[in-house]
Amino acid sequence: MSQTPPLVAGIEAGGTKFVVAVGTGLNDIRERTRIPTTKPQETMDAVVRFFNDCRRKHGPISAYGIGTFGPVDLDRRSRTYGYITTTPKRGWQHVDLITALYAHAKLPAAIDTDVNAAALGEFYWGAGVGIDPLVYITIGTGVGGGAIVNGAPLHGLVHPEMGHIHIPVPPFPDAFAPACRCPFHKSCLEGYISGPAIAARWGMKAEKLPPDHPAIEEAAWCLAHGLSNIILTLSPRRIILGGGVMKIPGLLERTRSQVVSVLNGYVAAPAILQHIDQYLVAPALGDNAGIAGALALGLRALHQPG
Ligand code: ADP
Ligand code: ZN
Repeated sequence: MSQTPPLVAGIEAGGTKFVVAVGTGLNDIRERTRIPTTKPQETMDAVVRFFNDCRRKHGPISAYGIGTFGPVDLDRRSRTYGYITTTPKRGWQHVDLITALYAHAKLPAAIDTDVNAAALGEFYWGAGVGIDPLVYITIGTGVGGGAIVNGAPLHGLVHPEMGHIHIPVPPFPDAFAPACRCPFHKSCLEGYISGPAIAARWGMKAEKLPPDHPAIEEAAWCLAHGLSNIILTLSPRRIILGGGVMKIPGLLERTRSQVVSVLNGYVAAPAILQHIDQYLVAPALGDNAGIAGALALGLRALHQPG
């Protein structure tokens, strides 16, 4: 009997669009499309319609994987498992992402945060293949982090919220002192280095910063303090840094040298002392990390249901 690899469905649920795909993995995507994020019912109906079409064209789907914006309830014992919880996105609070698919297909499904999904995608096919523990941080409209530990996305009480890690106030007074823009915290990473926080502090979008603008050194300093806490806590073997803000030229390089300086020789690992350029790296999958992660979640659900 010949074994054809099973088809899985991936859903990358974002605040502006859902990317949906069906395939056996990132290198064999049979069908893929984008669906605008409008009202939950409307968007989820379009997702189900897409998968119905895929089934007609390509045959049965064996499992679903969902990587979503959040916060999201990942506790399988919870009554609200698979629900987006307290998101600021209007109309999407307490929305059930999984039942619509499950009721419809009765298939194994796995749901996770968008950053855990991106971490898993990079772990399967990208810049962190087989590297465990692996951390993925995105610095964009918000700051978020995901981790793969012992081959699985890390959850616990809720899920990691590395973007809100506490850091010291940056000692870089310019025309005006740096201010944390997070509505919840007085001095957290996201509050200083999300794209909107940088724009608010310097009066220009991050993509408009000229080379050697002081914003870049300050962002590297903040990021290095956040990363050092993560390195000291999770001991990752690699950290992947993605998101729009990381496209600022020179930011990755400055962050590397700041991390070495903040750790100050205490973590005496060659990965940090000699090979920091292979330790703090850019993603390899670019815009595909999210959908890759969703497919990887589907593959995991297939092999480890329940
Ligand atoms: P999102 O977080 O919304 O998924 P991004 O990761 O692209 O999307 O993050 C958007 C933020 O990244 C914006 O605040 C924008 O100013 C910033 N950004 C996007 N592209 C660049 C760039 N080339 N250089 C610097 N900042 C950028
Ligand atoms: Zn915060």
